[in-house]
Amino acid sequence: MFKVLSRAFSQQLKDPVRVVVTGGSGQIAYSLLFRIASGSLLGENQPVILQIYDLPHMQAALRGVVMELLDGAFPLVHEIVASDLPETIYANADYAFLVGAKPRGPGMERGDLLKQNGEIFVKVGQALDKYANKNVKVLAVGNPVNTNALIAMSNAPSIPKENFTAMTRLDHNRALCQLGTYLNAKVTDIGNIAVWGNHSPTMFPDLSYVTLNGDKIRGKIDNTWYEKEFIPVVQQRGTAIIAARKASSAASAASAAVDHVRDWAIGSNGNWVSMAVPSDLYNGEYGVPPGLIFSYPVVCVNGAYQLVKGLKLDEFQQNKIKVTVNELLKEKEAVADLIRK
Ligand code: NAD
Repeated sequence: MFKVLSRAFSQQLKDPVRVVVTGGSGQIAYSLLFRIASGSLLGENQPVILQIYDLPHMQAALRGVVMELLDGAFPLVHEIVASDLPETIYANADYAFLVGAKPRGPGMERGDLLKQNGEIFVKVGQALDKYANKNVKVLAVGNPVNTNALIAMSNAPSIPKENFTAMTRLDHNRALCQLGTYLNAKVTDIGNIAVWGNHSPTMFPDLSYVTLNGDKIRGKIDNTWYEKEFIPVVQQRGTAIIAARKASSAASAASAAVDHVRDWAIGSNGNWVSMAVPSDLYNGEYGVPPGLIFSYPVVCVNGAYQLVKGLKLDEFQQNKIKVTVNELLKEKEAVADLIRK
């Protein structure tokens, strides 16, 4: 373990908050940590204590990342703690970005990945339960995100369920960008995009309620483009990036993680955003059974997310949602022994 204390800071600043990032020497963390340090996450008057985890054999690489963070001379970085000890990393955590996970190796089945990464999230859940603040806001980024978040949540019974979320914001941002290009519009002029379900190719990026400068425009979107291009492009974007970059999306994933937690903490200004959250909170609404971590359209206000309620779903939407629900139920079944009852 090593620990670095940084500079004194001025009076107007808030008390520092503790932000955990796991997988600290990985690709996503290499973008994410610097965005958090710069104030992109919680604003320019919120100092942070970075608590960065990686595995024992990654500590040398992690030390290099810490050296670079120090070299950034970020005024908001109050302290950096880097370690492979859960009790050090999760101590009094206010925010936790759970990025660390095993990549899918050659010949590895999705079931093996579920099991192996699921075991990581059992330990993470137990450590959060034991050491973190009870109001910690948790974002799972390591895949398979929805099921990993579910496993962590079930192993942290002393933390409210609503504090556990998984990331579909990258899918939401991808949908926004695809539609912006199609409409030749600014992403800031587009509203009411929804991504439903699993962060996997079964996710459903839904344009049924979409607005442009506040006006409903679904009727102006060509159905063939929507069904044959937009939906598959968003669903398969991760694979297309791996094919082009020979590595999985990292900077855009980090950016989406910042967007997700910033909006959750500070508010989404009335905008819909997509977050995978416990379906237990919503009584089977939109045909999603309890017991899953499922992506819905939400609005964030005062440090909480609220489901967008009262949407009417047509048959096309219901069928798409059913497919992704069924996939999540199967994932859950495959790791049933890791989910604490
Ligand atoms: P990476 O391989 O570069 O880094 C992974 C890091 O996790 C490494 O530092 C590794 O040491 C660490 N790690 C491995 N096992 C661990 C364990 N048991 N406990 C803690 N840390 C462990 O991968 P990356 O590109 O940074 O991606 C990280 C994860 O994010 C992957 O699972 C990837 O599939 C996922 N991802 C999710 C999204 C999304 O939209 N939700 C997007 C892109 C990537």
